[in-house]
Order: sequence, then structure tokens, then C-alpha cells
Amino acid sequence: MKKAYKCDICGESHDVFKAVEIPTPEMVLEIPDSEKEQRVKKIQESYIIDDQVYLLKGDVFIYVENNKEPFFIWSVWASILLEDFKTKAEALKKGENVAFDGQLETKIPFYEMTKGLKVKVFININYDYAVIKIEEESQIRKDQTEKITEERVLKIMEMYYHPKEEYKKSE
Ligand SMILES: [Zn+2]
Repeated sequence: MKKAYKCDICGESHDVFKAVEIPTPEMVLEIPDSEKEQRVKKIQESYIIDDQVYLLKGDVFIYVENNKEPFFIWSVWASILLEDFKTKAEALKKGENVAFDGQLETKIPFYEMTKGLKVKVFININYDYAVIKIEEESQIRKDQTEKITEERVLKIMEMYYHPKEEYKKSE
């Protein structure tokens, strides 16, 4: 796969990116500043909201055919119940792999409706980030479950560089 490609829509050359990172979860940004101190607790890289929700960063890996390493790494936010997290905290401390039922909390710009999708979050204390597996039927789940084609990579790039609204204008 080349590092850049010539775009069929605008004729320019665009870089093929492989990673997207969302620095701050939307759920935190949506809380008014005046309430943040009371409702948001930051623990290392994670957040606790209203003593109920545990928000953590995790990676969604997408593989391309004939590649052993993941091609795309979407670094996104997922929420799990704080209660669940506490229940498994002991196992985590022992270095065991722990899985949680959670929900995707990031709106990935080039997928429709990713926020709110049911996910499994896998955590191992020895790794920097959790791994997120999409459970609910969706395009992103399909991309994650099956290896995608290089053609599909270009489609994703098009969705990123030319979001739908622009698409319609050029038709
Ligand atoms: Zn273009």
C-alpha cells in the first residue's frame, strides 16, 4: 500500500493515514466547565464520570488482506460501568487479561454511527492501551472482523478527505 494516492474526486494527492487518535472523550467535553470539577475525575489516562462510568482509551485494529500487522489503528474512547471495573480490579492487578462489556464513545468521522455501539474492552495491565472489539452489527464491525481490501482502504480515505456533504455537492 502506497503512502499517498491520487484522489479520483479532487485530483489531488492525499496521504494514506494509518492512525487516528481522539485526545479527549466527547463525554468529558460535553460536561459544562462549571460542573467538571464535581463530576469528572481523571485517573492517569482514564476518566470517571459521576462515579458511575469509567471512560478509557482503547485501540480498534483493522487489518488489510495480506498484511500480518494491523493497518489502521483507531485510538478511541469506550465506557464501561465503574462497578464492573471495580469487580475485576483484583484480577487486573494480578496481570490477568480482563474483558468488559462497554460502549463506544467516539464518533469516528468516516463511519456512520459509531458512538453508542456495543463493544468488548480487553484490558491487560501490562499493555499501555486497551483493545476494543466492536460487537454490534455495523460497518466498523465488518471492517474489524474481516480483513479489508486495499480498495476499501481508499474508500475510507475518500470518506475522510471528502465527507458526505462534499460528495453530494460534486455530484
Ligand atoms: Zn481528494
